[in-house]
Amino acid sequence: MARKFFVGGNFKMNGTIASIKEIVQNLNNATLDPNVEVVIAPPALYLLLVRDSIKNGVEVAAQNVWNKPNGAYTGEISVSQLKDSNINWTILGHSERRTILAESDEVVSSKTKFATENGVSVIWCCGESLAEREAGNTISVVSGQLEALKSQVSDWSRIVIAYEPIWAIGTGKVATTEQAQEVHAAIREWLKKEVSQKVADETRILYGGSVTEKNSKDLSKQPDIDGFLVGGASLKPAFVDIINSKQ
Ligand code: PEP
Repeated sequence: MARKFFVGGNFKMNGTIASIKEIVQNLNNATLDPNVEVVIAPPALYLLLVRDSIKNGVEVAAQNVWNKPNGAYTGEISVSQLKDSNINWTILGHSERRTILAESDEVVSSKTKFATENGVSVIWCCGESLAEREAGNTISVVSGQLEALKSQVSDWSRIVIAYEPIWAIGTGKVATTEQAQEVHAAIREWLKKEVSQKVADETRILYGGSVTEKNSKDLSKQPDIDGFLVGGASLKPAFVDIINSKQ
């Protein structure tokens, strides 16, 4: 089965009602490659605004979700609240949450388990720090994150993996096509060995880290790069060019 190219836009904690309406309008007016799955993740406060105004064919994701059905979890939103709002995706395990908010592999995995088992698909992020890369530990770090995921998750059909080297996020320092392809191939190999050939063949592995309309074409040609998770550039009109960059 061919893997459908996937481009996610992570707005992070950026935007206002006015600027987000502008982004939506830009996407609504653009011709987007119908062979690309597009999912945008505005801040929680603006999820419904985007859901209600974005054109058919573009999906909406939360940037986080909790691992309990409902209750006394101040500040969190639930999977059922997302579904009630017709939001069928969430990002989980973004390195900003892993590092700044100290989310452990276990917490990320349990949230991924809860979301996927209750009908919300997950853009699950992994990746190494600069020190880990320089120490030659990239593959073992990413494998460890995948191991933690595997220990809790059994349905991989609702998971898209985003490989996001931390040193490339928001730094303007994009991984080379070779660096990215090497890790993507290793992730696919891990899926084949540790999960199944089917999951390895079908799971989309996105690259994230300073993707722009200038580097997306070359990255998209790599055999194991099935799309992108885009931060800063998803707030700009050129996000359309990234979506349409797959030849
Ligand atoms: C991200 O936040 O997931 C990301 C990849 O950010 P940026 O594209 O800005 O590096």
